Amino acid sequence: MITHGHSDHARAGHRHVLATRQTLDIMRIRYGEDFCESEQGAEFGEVLDVGGVTVSFFPAGHVLGSAQIAVEKDGLRIVASGDYKRGVDATCAPFEPVKCDVFITEATFGLPVFHHPEPRGEIAKLLRSIEQFPDRTHLVGAYSLGKAQRVIRLIRDCGWDKPIYIHGALAKLCDYYAGQGIELGDLRPATIDKSTPDLFKGAIVVGPPSAFQDRWARRFNEPLISFASGWMMVRQRAKQGGVELPLVISDHCDWPELLETIKEIAPSEVWVTHGREEALVRWCELQGLPAKPLHLVGYEDEGD
Ligand SMILES: [Zn+2]
Repeated sequence: MITHGHSDHARAGHRHVLATRQTLDIMRIRYGEDFCESEQGAEFGEVLDVGGVTVSFFPAGHVLGSAQIAVEKDGLRIVASGDYKRGVDATCAPFEPVKCDVFITEATFGLPVFHHPEPRGEIAKLLRSIEQFPDRTHLVGAYSLGKAQRVIRLIRDCGWDKPIYIHGALAKLCDYYAGQGIELGDLRPATIDKSTPDLFKGAIVVGPPSAFQDRWARRFNEPLISFASGWMMVRQRAKQGGVELPLVISDHCDWPELLETIKEIAPSEVWVTHGREEALVRWCELQGLPAKPLHLVGYEDEGD
């Protein structure tokens, strides 16, 4: 059972995979037709039986197709939320709080210092920078699944109707999102050659952050490197990555959202995984709520 398509949650090579139809499609796009032996699509809210255990999927608000998975047996219900967020995101179904006995939460940004700002305000910074530096190509780094499409959609929602240029690594997933009814507007390949030196002046180019370390990126006109990630709150990270314009846009809960979610669901126990377990476990204990860290081995973070 797989919550969503990021590589720290979804891997190829399983025998049977149960996931939302969109997550299965995304796994096929990323890992190829033979990503598993057999697959089963789950609708949100559908009640399934897996070997005598009741299983249901609910939206997680993280990326397209992302789900929380509820498993229930003998009156005990556990919800694994995968990655999730509570903020508005036009590119996926919103998080749905699900009553349960045990709530398994991520804690990517599980420290009180993490407060994510309004994403539209961050996009406004990008658009102001383009006004200020109309000749410079603005290269926006965004992870290829979820973040890139959300950033593109936010740029559209902030009124930018010119073409947005995308790195080839984003093409298939952007096409998939568009095919699922997520309007991304006029997207064009960010292919640069000597015949079109002015094409990218003042243009927005979106690509995976790794691509901006490439020679490809230096061919643009006075490239201005931006990066959309929750980690851009940490000034040092932006500086180290050579990011001139950090945009704090996250597909994970910040600290207040984590607390709000746990209070709203009011489980009798919390298990904390994927990130800063200790602070959230401690907070739960101070509320009189039993909690423990789940240390997963071998799964590195993707798409924060
Ligand atoms: Zn994720």
